[in-house]
Amino acid sequence: MRVHETDAVVVGAGPVGLFTVFQCGMVKVRCHVVDALSHVGGQLSALYPEKPIYDIPGHPRILASALVERLSAQAAPFEPVFHLGVTATTLTAEPDGRWRMGLGNGEEIVARAVILASGGGAFAPKRPPLDGLEQYEGSGVFYSVPRREAFRDKRIVIAGGGDSAVDWAISLSEIAAKVSVVHRRPRFRAVPGAEADLLRLAEQGRIELVIPTQLHALEGHDGQLEAVIVATLEGETRRLPADALLAFFGLSGDVGPVAGWELAMDGHCVIIDPASGAASRPGIFACGDICTYPGKLRLILTGFAEAARAAHSVHDVVHPGAALHFVHSTTAGVPGP
Ligand SMILES: Cc1cc2nc3c(=O)[nH]c(=O)nc-3n(C[C@H](O)[C@H](O)[C@H](O)COP(=O)(O)OP(=O)(O)OC[C@H]3O[C@@H](n4cnc5c(N)ncnc54)[C@H](O)[C@@H]3O)c2cc1C
Repeated sequence: MRVHETDAVVVGAGPVGLFTVFQCGMVKVRCHVVDALSHVGGQLSALYPEKPIYDIPGHPRILASALVERLSAQAAPFEPVFHLGVTATTLTAEPDGRWRMGLGNGEEIVARAVILASGGGAFAPKRPPLDGLEQYEGSGVFYSVPRREAFRDKRIVIAGGGDSAVDWAISLSEIAAKVSVVHRRPRFRAVPGAEADLLRLAEQGRIELVIPTQLHALEGHDGQLEAVIVATLEGETRRLPADALLAFFGLSGDVGPVAGWELAMDGHCVIIDPASGAASRPGIFACGDICTYPGKLRLILTGFAEAARAAHSVHDVVHPGAALHFVHSTTAGVPGP
């Protein structure tokens, strides 16, 4: 089993987790960052990458995906170690005052401080309620497209009616043997331009729209998917021969692990002292959507300020006895050329 040691472990690579890495770096605190998603950006990447945000100071209008890129670039000089696609599951106190965090992949991180930037919880795809689903997951059933080429010349069924389903149907129609889109409503929830492209490709016969229908069953052997059975709302079924099912039903947040770490909570949020960012156990801090206190505003910009506050407190935990002289970034600069 691999055990990593670091100054601080940040749970969540959303916008606030990324800015926490920057703020920690400015006060000489090294970070490992854990996120259940396979990419950074939290809600911005997972839920609304193409939406413009209008209330980030200094950016009258910035796409969520562009903000994530800039936050990543801002954190990069401090060389954070990312553990992506991995859930932080357990947290136990070490006799020397450090924390030992257990990860879903069996690895562990031992750190002086823990900073929760875990938002609405660990993101996981919403899975369709189909018998035998597990045996096909990763071989014939997927919830994202890590490598587009893997679907070349394949017969693909795409389920869902949002941006991901529509965008991937359009993209994969260029390389797949066949793309069928299954959606339980007659209209899609994608941005209008994308929906128009989808309908045009359907008219040209390059994509088959199997609507309104929903997933009913999977057929195959030994983890090898052979067909997806769909049903109309009246219960009439149809068999779609398929090598892969891509199910895009969105994500759900699981606050489960953090809720089990014996922290004072208000509902799904960790109660902090806003003057320090500290949660109810020593050495644990929280910022962003996961934290609460009187007057809390659930905004990205609020999370950024909370990240700065937490980082300064973490400095005192990681470097006990070393005075932290407050310096502006204009004076301190950042590492690198
Ligand atoms: C459609 C939409 C539009 C929005 N528009 C705006 C806007 O205009 N302006 C604004 O300020 N805010 C907006 N928000 C809110 C904003 O997105 C959130 O305030 C922000 O994402 C919070 O950032 P965060 O880093 O705290 O948490 P998140 O972005 O939720 O990131 C938390 C990350 O932690 C990970 N995580 C949690 N628990 C674990 C665990 N145990 N192990 C591993 N990983 C874990 C999750 O997978 C996730 O990636 C919007 C939200 C939505 C949904």
